[in-house]
Amino acid sequence: MKFLNSVSSARSQSDTFKKDPLRSGRYAISLSGDTEPDGQIVPENPKPEITEWPDNKCAFCENKFESTLAKLGTHPICDNCKTNIDKKIFPLWVKMFFGGILVLVVFSLCWNFRFYSAYKNVNRAFVANAEGDGVKAEVFMTQAAEQAPESGDIITFAHYYKSINLLVNDRSKQALDELEYCKNLDESFKVNQLVLSAEMGAAYDTKDYALFLKTAKAALSIDTTSAQSWASVASAYACLYAISSTDSLKQRSLEYINKAKTIDTVSDRSKEYYGLIQYRLDSKQIISRTAFHKQFPNGYPTK
Ligand SMILES: [Zn+2]
Repeated sequence: MKFLNSVSSARSQSDTFKKDPLRSGRYAISLSGDTEPDGQIVPENPKPEITEWPDNKCAFCENKFESTLAKLGTHPICDNCKTNIDKKIFPLWVKMFFGGILVLVVFSLCWNFRFYSAYKNVNRAFVANAEGDGVKAEVFMTQAAEQAPESGDIITFAHYYKSINLLVNDRSKQALDELEYCKNLDESFKVNQLVLSAEMGAAYDTKDYALFLKTAKAALSIDTTSAQSWASVASAYACLYAISSTDSLKQRSLEYINKAKTIDTVSDRSKEYYGLIQYRLDSKQIISRTAFHKQFPNGYPTK
């Protein structure tokens, strides 16, 4: 039986192979790719029909409205849906948070305004100082110091500019007090020399001419390139001569004034100072600069 079955099976297989083996039965192969196994043509996938979404139909709730709706991106949206979406995007706590941030920003701007203003005044003071306007420099720096009293540096500079103006106006003792606050400034600000100038002036004002001479010599030892430094020593010797009439003091004064003249005989400031010292040596009178100006508006002749 097994043999008969196999013969019958072999025959049916042979019959099958007489047909197109690739196009018969369930497992026929479609060579062109466009036919079903039984030879039917494969229909193309039907394209979905695209209909345009009406402008008056909300893409979210799908309700229709009479008028054209606003759009969210490319989708029409009704007012109600827009409000709901906004609520989801910006819930109340987010709005309150941003409100709080805004309040903080405004508060910090107001709070920090004085710092911005102080910064502006510091710059104005530096510019004024660079232009040689010491009075303006002092005014701006003092304003800055009042606006930002936390800043030690600004306060120091306010004292510094004030001390210079006091020195210029022969108010040496007050300048000395101001310079007490400037000890921490960089060497380039020459605070030591200013202190010596103030000490010289204060000694002169109190008629302590020995101290005047001592401080003038100390200032000269710091800067020997300045005619004013040599002239200050000459001035002190002239004061000591005026009160003692000791000729050697007059001689010393003339030595120092001659040294000053080797450095500067041109500037008005130096010429005026030489005249004042010469007048002191000639007259043995110690008069203030203002009185000297009144008496000799065109200067005093020097030898
Ligand atoms: Zn809607």
